[in-house]
Amino acid sequence: MKKEIRDKYEVVIGLEIHAQLSTASKIYYSDSTEFGNAPNTNISAITLGHPGTLPILNKKVVEYAIKMGLACNCDITREMIFDRKNYFYPDLPKGYQITQDRTPICVGGEIPINLKEGGERAIKLNRIHIEEDAGKSMHLAGEADTLVDYNRAGVPLIEIVTEPVIKDAYEAQTVLSEIRKLVRYLEICDGNMEEGSMRCDVNISVRTVGAKELGKKAEVKNLNSIRNVQRAIDFETKRQIEALEAGEEIDSETRNFDDVTGITTGMRTKEALNDYRYFPDPDLSPVHVSEEWLNSIKSTMPALPRELYHKYIKEYGLPELDALVLTDTKELATYFEELSSITKNYKASSNWMMGPVKSYLNDSSIKIEDFTLSPNRLAELIKLVEDNKVSFSAASQKLFAALVAEESKSALHLAEEMNLMQDSDTDTLGELADAIVAEFPDKVLAYQKGHKGLLGMFMGELMKRSNGKADPKVANELLRQKLG
Ligand code: ADP
Ligand code: MG
Repeated sequence: MKKEIRDKYEVVIGLEIHAQLSTASKIYYSDSTEFGNAPNTNISAITLGHPGTLPILNKKVVEYAIKMGLACNCDITREMIFDRKNYFYPDLPKGYQITQDRTPICVGGEIPINLKEGGERAIKLNRIHIEEDAGKSMHLAGEADTLVDYNRAGVPLIEIVTEPVIKDAYEAQTVLSEIRKLVRYLEICDGNMEEGSMRCDVNISVRTVGAKELGKKAEVKNLNSIRNVQRAIDFETKRQIEALEAGEEIDSETRNFDDVTGITTGMRTKEALNDYRYFPDPDLSPVHVSEEWLNSIKSTMPALPRELYHKYIKEYGLPELDALVLTDTKELATYFEELSSITKNYKASSNWMMGPVKSYLNDSSIKIEDFTLSPNRLAELIKLVEDNKVSFSAASQKLFAALVAEESKSALHLAEEMNLMQDSDTDTLGELADAIVAEFPDKVLAYQKGHKGLLGMFMGELMKRSNGKADPKVANELLRQKLG
């Protein structure tokens, strides 16, 4: 598309994100929520919606949803009901989904994101509500009928709905990855998009730059990766602009995304479908969230990635990149928190985490939570370098691996055993320096006449004679003195 045409339009995006809550049992009964079991084994009369059965609300579901609301700064609804959303589909055995229409558990709120051009922006949320997942239709090759697996029916979900304020694919992806980070920190959802624990619908419209009204939107359903969110937005942006340029109107419709071709296709238009006849579910009592209950949930809130991110920048003086990497997962941040409670050399700690520790974890395909070197012992190592007892290269290339392997020995003990202690004793180093100066009178003269580059040669000589163990700082100073 020509740039001058593209530049006439701006994109508006709103996301609807479904996250499966990682409760052990379903939202209205004790059936297991475990993923990957044989079809139709995690089911019961309630999950199947048999006549005469009554749902019983899982308290954990409400608590998890409130945690997400607190993390996003939402207003928590204190009196709520559940509503039936009526539609017919084979994967929905009751003929309706129990959701929240008028009284979503969380209202408003925001997700702060880092912008590509620097700085941050808070993406406004409309609401977060609780609902139940549907079963899964399966179209198997060689099978004439559609089969249905109801294991997923009744698995609890929260749906996080943003306002239509997202401006491009980058922002949309960032919102999604921030939400995934949050649910993982809160331990309310595993955030695994490939397995469908988190799914994203993208609502997208375009309008001419500066227009007041929003354009008509298309809703692209069930995107199962952050990358596909970007692909769907890129495709829709182009499709909608081209349609408007050709004088066509955009249909408000629901569209499917094809993972292979990267193309979206129309499924159904909104006007035709949108009559869900919502009404309060008469089988469930209204839920009251007492002050006491809310406070007890608040008391279980962990430190959130954003708080830690800002703390590392403001209090620890770390660069933004370090803060971002260190807060990427809760486990990484927890390790770093422990490390920083022992050694106050935050930048050195961060360098160790982002350098040797990360490479070690990558190379051995393990996660930080399975890393056997305790923050305490890593701190000893950092201290040895800080005190110039061991050089950083010896520490990172030799001592670190030994420390990981030898769980019972201290860093100092190993450094001595491996002969890695640096010599900063001015007497011994001074004697070596004197000997070298006496041995190369020509070079000393040249140095004094201005060939300062010769210092490197003297340093090399001293290093060699100290078997690489001279403290470079001390050696450098001594040599300068002796050379005059
Ligand atoms: P619907 O009635 O189609 O479900 P909602 O008002 O409930 O629409 O909004 C659903 C999602 O669509 C929200 O994430 C919202 O931000 C987004 N949205 C609404 N209008 C637009 C628009 N014109 N362009 C882009 N996104 C929109
Ligand atoms: Mg909607």
